[in-house]
Amino acid sequence: MTDRRKMPPGIGTGVREAAPVDPFADTLARHGLSLVRDRVHTLQVNTGYLCNLQCRHCHLEAGPGRQEIMSRGTMEAVVSFARRFPFQVVDVTGGAPELVPDLPFLVDGLAPLAPRLMLRTNLSAVSGAEWESLLALCVARRVVLVASFPSTNPSQADAQRGAGATEAAIAVLKKLNAAGYGVDGTGLELNLVSNPVGAFLPMPQDSAERKFRHDMLRKWGVAFNRLYTFANVPLGRFRTWLLRTGNYEHYVKTLTESFNPSAVDGLMCRTLLSVSWDGFLYDCDFNLAVDRPTGGRKVHVSEVRELPAPGAPIAIGEYCYACAAGSGFT
Ligand code: SF4
Repeated sequence: MTDRRKMPPGIGTGVREAAPVDPFADTLARHGLSLVRDRVHTLQVNTGYLCNLQCRHCHLEAGPGRQEIMSRGTMEAVVSFARRFPFQVVDVTGGAPELVPDLPFLVDGLAPLAPRLMLRTNLSAVSGAEWESLLALCVARRVVLVASFPSTNPSQADAQRGAGATEAAIAVLKKLNAAGYGVDGTGLELNLVSNPVGAFLPMPQDSAERKFRHDMLRKWGVAFNRLYTFANVPLGRFRTWLLRTGNYEHYVKTLTESFNPSAVDGLMCRTLLSVSWDGFLYDCDFNLAVDRPTGGRKVHVSEVRELPAPGAPIAIGEYCYACAAGSGFT
């Protein structure tokens, strides 16, 4: 290949070095495309890297040992930001947001400011009275719950998340259904997120949703609204796993060969801003994982005077192939 190909950045000790990848910008240019901003309508809030799980696919390497969580002060700055720049959608994610002590403050602050407030959950971070109280808050604030549920095959899902994870998640999903989540006519939306449990691309979303709906009802009597399928992004723990198991080259080749030019227009980074646990802005959660801030300079939400304008550049990397593969990652 030509000398324009480059190595992805640093890798962990004890794993094979990664093969070169065609720069994403070159692939865009070959198709006469560029990736620039459209009007921003979504704010993603990453509350930190603390999580009860250590999933193999996690691009943030979240886990029980991580100390980075959003402070009350940063939450106040995020709420003030969302008040100054109204967003249509606010998406609260992690790590496991449920483990962040001031999450109720953040939810209470953001709920009146956006028509749609989403909260990601792995369905296992909290239990008992803590879970009941969070659920009551979500019902009261009409929060859309987005629950990760990798597979309707328990042995596959448990391989990714740990033994017994599926059974525990199903028990929580049943409680959510009982509270009205995922049930027609309640207005309480419960969406599932599934990602592959290995080095392959997800099923097309529509057929995966049909299969999940059928399996979840038949096996466990669980209902949900929508299923979203995402390709795993070769960063963080997933990248290390790919390299360690010799799957990296094959996976990246699969991603690059599945590049879909028509997915570029709908990529989430065109309309989203992601704020890190310590309050800085990124074009997406993957750029946050590699610390490539919006506009090439770390800007705190408390200092933002205007949102990126349509046409503004977006920081891209080889991991962008995961977003633009197949039907895309929106
Ligand atoms: S990783 Fe995905 S969302 Fe982020 S800049 Fe690349 S294409 Fe956009």
